[in-house]
Amino acid sequence: MKARIKQTKSLKDIGKATWMRVAIIVLSVLFLITAATTVYFAVKYNRDVAELNGALSENSSMYDSKISEYESYKAEKESEKSSYEDKIDAQSNEYQSRVDELNKKIDSLNKQIAAKKASSSQTKPQSQPQTQPLPQQPLNPNNGPKTVYLTFDDGPSQYTSQILTILDSYGVKATFFVKNGGKYNYLMKEIVNRGHAIGLHTYSHDYKKIYSSDDAYLSDLKSISDLVLQQTGVETKIMRFPGGSSNSVSKKHSKGIMTRMTKKVTDMGYAYFDWNCSNGDADGAKTVDKQLSFCSNYPKSANTVIVLMHDTQKTTMEALPKIIEYYHSQGMTFGILTTSSPTVHHKVVN
Ligand SMILES: [Zn+2]
Repeated sequence: MKARIKQTKSLKDIGKATWMRVAIIVLSVLFLITAATTVYFAVKYNRDVAELNGALSENSSMYDSKISEYESYKAEKESEKSSYEDKIDAQSNEYQSRVDELNKKIDSLNKQIAAKKASSSQTKPQSQPQTQPLPQQPLNPNNGPKTVYLTFDDGPSQYTSQILTILDSYGVKATFFVKNGGKYNYLMKEIVNRGHAIGLHTYSHDYKKIYSSDDAYLSDLKSISDLVLQQTGVETKIMRFPGGSSNSVSKKHSKGIMTRMTKKVTDMGYAYFDWNCSNGDADGAKTVDKQLSFCSNYPKSANTVIVLMHDTQKTTMEALPKIIEYYHSQGMTFGILTTSSPTVHHKVVN
């Protein structure tokens, strides 16, 4: 009985020990699995961290190089900008100095103009007509390109000085065909000095004498030429025959003299001028209105208008401002005669 009890007891012990062993094995296996998993994840984590660090360091160096690239680009552009700024400053300084220079010139010219105005207003005589220089542009430019040549014969005389003043006040130049004017001969120099043309008319203006023979005419021509040269220093080659080349009064003194003399003086290098308009001062026009009426009777189709006047006539002096204004209103420009001017020649009848 006892043995059976013992045997039953020992069987119970055997079962207990087996369970213990199984439990230990299971626990050991669990431990091993846990440890292996831990080691695996630890290794994996370390590797990932290392990879990330590598990537980070790679990116960082890439960004560093980009930043440095950008910095050098920025520095380059900054230097370009400052070089442009320098150039602009230099140009601006240059322009400013040019502007300063031009302003100085303008100031100096203005001072010269003011000085000239002051000196001319001081020297102008009290009796000078109150007129203004004509504007540059003709008032009536549609009327055609006409040039009017104002010519004065038989001076210098007591009215020549006033006539010169009137011409000056309009800024108009004219042509003076002179004769021996005695005590007024000094005005020949004034005529030249003020920019007018001077031409030969005659020394004596005595038809009977000058048209008596070829030699008499040429001798008179030489006398007036010498007088003009002596008074002005000018050897003029423009001339006008007393009475014009068409005069017939010469016929009773020397037949054919105008035919011969017009050719002779041309061969001698002179240019002689007649006229195609007159202010009528030698034909009884003794008022300003009558002279203006004569002046308006110019050949309308001609481009050259040569007006005969005499600076020995008081009415001519009085009419001159209105005559100038009239031709200006017709769109004409004022010229002076030279050897190359367009000629107006009358028909020679002797
Ligand atoms: Zn004359």
